[in-house]
Amino acid sequence: MAPPSSPSISDANSPAVDASALDELRNTPWREWSNEQWELWRNQVHRLATERNAVILAHNYQLPEIQDAAHHVGDSLGLSRIAADTDADEVIFCGVHFMAETAKILSPDKRVLIPDAAAGCSLADTITAEDLRAWKDEHPGAVVVSYVNTTAEVKALTDICCTSSNAVDVVESIPADQEVLFCPDQFLGAHVQRSTGRENMHIWMGECHVHADISPTDLTDTVRSHPEADLYVHPECGCTTSALWMADSGEFPRDRTHILSTGAMLDQAKKNSRNTVLVATEVGMLHQLRKARPDTEFLAVNPEAACPFMQMITPDKLLRSLEEGRDEVDVPTDVADAARRSVEAMIAIGTPGGGE
Ligand code: SF4
Repeated sequence: MAPPSSPSISDANSPAVDASALDELRNTPWREWSNEQWELWRNQVHRLATERNAVILAHNYQLPEIQDAAHHVGDSLGLSRIAADTDADEVIFCGVHFMAETAKILSPDKRVLIPDAAAGCSLADTITAEDLRAWKDEHPGAVVVSYVNTTAEVKALTDICCTSSNAVDVVESIPADQEVLFCPDQFLGAHVQRSTGRENMHIWMGECHVHADISPTDLTDTVRSHPEADLYVHPECGCTTSALWMADSGEFPRDRTHILSTGAMLDQAKKNSRNTVLVATEVGMLHQLRKARPDTEFLAVNPEAACPFMQMITPDKLLRSLEEGRDEVDVPTDVADAARRSVEAMIAIGTPGGGE
């Protein structure tokens, strides 16, 4: 798994707070904050994190300002494993709800907060626990493999979770004569089926609307305008099949086409020798890639691919979360125990990678 970045922050010695300046900050829309107000926000966030003994985690798709203020930036599973390892009492998860749930599943004794509990995920929402129960009833004996972008209740009904980087290994670990139910992402499922050649695998037809909108046309246009570039494609994208087809047909070099999880994109960027890299995933990812390799030009295959749920976590809500201790994410113990077993089954297979 790629080690999440750890920006240095000066939480221990922050200057004293000016209460009226703080009031003004709270009453000003965050997009209109001055440089001084951003500085005040950062200081206050770090001061409160220290007071609460909280660790701030930010997903790679978060706003750049939130990534830069966090103690750790990374992918969903990597961050949840950091949450489990830290001795902080509280985890402030700047990401979407299922990610905070995963942190809670792996850290049942810690208090997990998300700055806005309404930050959902269109992919996780495509399958409910009820849907999965009905699907399992149609295929008794099948092994359920769920991508980590699922709710805790769905994970609790799952045999083995998977991430985008280990989905192929997880499915290959299942005896060839056993049926597999793979959910919820159809594009990742198609990638796994292509890679394993497995015919007894049923794929749930869910998709992330952000990644699905990174279309084959976006990909073809961008690749043709930058024939010298490397290409990084997240397997949730609607253009993954096209990327592999272009590589197989020789239209774009196979050795420059990389199907990667977000953590693996960062690893690949650190090894990169190209001047230009085309990136097919949510645009927040570009911030960490550019920090990792300032000498490389990273271009979004679809610059409009911004996740509206990730963007619900705003700097003012992060401050509010630390001030008011909200929104707490809880998972019932029986659900958390069952969900943890499916995550641990994945980790036992090895190379868990990092999820979205
Ligand atoms: S980018 Fe897609 S999969 Fe990721 S959190 Fe947003 S809606 Fe969910």
